[in-house]
Amino acid sequence: MRRPLQASSTPLARALSAEIVACGPMRLDRFMERILQDPEHGYYRRGRPLGREGDFITAPEISQIFGELVGLWLADRWMAAGRPAPARLVELGPGRGTLMADALRAMAVVPELHRALDVHLVESHPELKREQAARVPGAHWHDRFDDVPAGPLLLIANEFFDALPIRQFRREATGWSECHVGLDEEGGDFRFVFRPVPARTLEDLFPAGRLAGIAPGGIIEANEAARAIMTLIARRLAEEGGAALIIDYGYAAPGHGDTLQAVRRHARVPLFEAPGEADWTAHVDFTALAAAADAQGARVFGPLAQGPFLEALGIGLRAERLAAGKEEHVRAEIMSGVARLVAGEAMGALFQVLAILGPQTAEPPPGFLVPPSGGGR
Ligand code: SAH
Repeated sequence: MRRPLQASSTPLARALSAEIVACGPMRLDRFMERILQDPEHGYYRRGRPLGREGDFITAPEISQIFGELVGLWLADRWMAAGRPAPARLVELGPGRGTLMADALRAMAVVPELHRALDVHLVESHPELKREQAARVPGAHWHDRFDDVPAGPLLLIANEFFDALPIRQFRREATGWSECHVGLDEEGGDFRFVFRPVPARTLEDLFPAGRLAGIAPGGIIEANEAARAIMTLIARRLAEEGGAALIIDYGYAAPGHGDTLQAVRRHARVPLFEAPGEADWTAHVDFTALAAAADAQGARVFGPLAQGPFLEALGIGLRAERLAAGKEEHVRAEIMSGVARLVAGEAMGALFQVLAILGPQTAEPPPGFLVPPSGGGR
C-alpha cells in the first residue's frame, strides 16, 4: 500500500501546502506556529495532548506531590515578598488544571494567602479550558500573558515554553542558512529547505561566543517567542515583585543541535506525519531565558535539574506521609511516581527548573540553596 502523502494527510497539511505552493517555503517558526496554534486546526486548539488517551503525560499528571511542592514554593515566595494583596497566581499552559488544583490545595495551609490570591490561567485550547474550569473554579482565563492584570506575580509554567515556535539556523561552509518548510518536486511531501540568511540575523539573536564551536552542518535554535514572554514576566517581576518558576526539558548550559520533535500517542513520530494532530516541541534554551530575565533587572536562580530541586523541597518525606497507612499497591504507585519525577534516567535530569524573582528578595529561594560541593546531606 502506498504511504499517504503528507501534504494532503490532514486539513492543516492541505492548508499549509496550498500556502507553500502560492508563496514558497515557509520559515520554520511560522510553520510551527501554525502546527500548534492555527486557529482552526492547531494542535493546542484541537488536539488531545494530555493523559493516557492523549499524546503525552506531564509531571503533575504523574504525582500530586509535584503541584503541592510548587504551591508551597510559591507560598514561601509570597511571604518573602511581604505578603502582597492582591497577588496574581498565574499559570501558563495549565493543561488539565491538575497542577493548579494541587498547588492551591497545598497553599491553603496559609489562609491569608488564599484570600489574597486571584488565579489567572493563560490557555489557548477551548476544551482544556473547560477541564481547567472544573478543577479550578473561579479562575480567570487569558489568551496571552500580557492580559493578566497588574500586580505582584506568582507564576508557574510547566511544559509551556517547549511548545513555542523556534527558528533553526545551519552553519554552511561560508555563512549561515535558515530552515524553512517547502514541498518536494511532486508537491506531495513536506521537506526542509535551508535558505541563506545574513550573519547579522544571528548576531542579533545570539551572544558572540555561542556560535563559535559550531562546525559546518551544525544547527542552532532560537526561540524568540519564549524570550519575548520571559522578558514580559521578568519586567513585571522587576517592577511589581513576586516570583516565577519555569520547569521544562532543555539545555541547562549553552548548547546547540536539532531538538525539534513530534510526539503522538506517547511515541515520537516523523515531524510531517499528521500536521496538527501530533505535538511539536523543542528543547528550551534556559541560558537564553535567564539572559532575557536578567536584562530586565529580575533575579535569576538556576537552572537546576528537577530531581535535586524536588528532593531539596522534601519530596521524599511528603511521599512517605502520603503513602503512610495506604494499601501496598497505592503506596507502590506513589513511590514509582516520585521516582519517575526525580530519577536521572527518567525526568529528574532532563527537566530543568529556573526561578525568577523580583529584586526585593535577597536570599536564594527554596530548592536553590544547594549544599556546597563535596558536602554530604
Ligand atoms: N502545564 C500542564 C500542561 C502542559 S502541556 C501540565 O504540566 O500538565 C502545554 C499546555 O500549554 C497546554 O495546556 C496547552 O494547551 C498550552 N499552550 C501551549 N501553547 C500555548 C500558547 N501559545 N498559548 C496558550 N496556551 C498554550
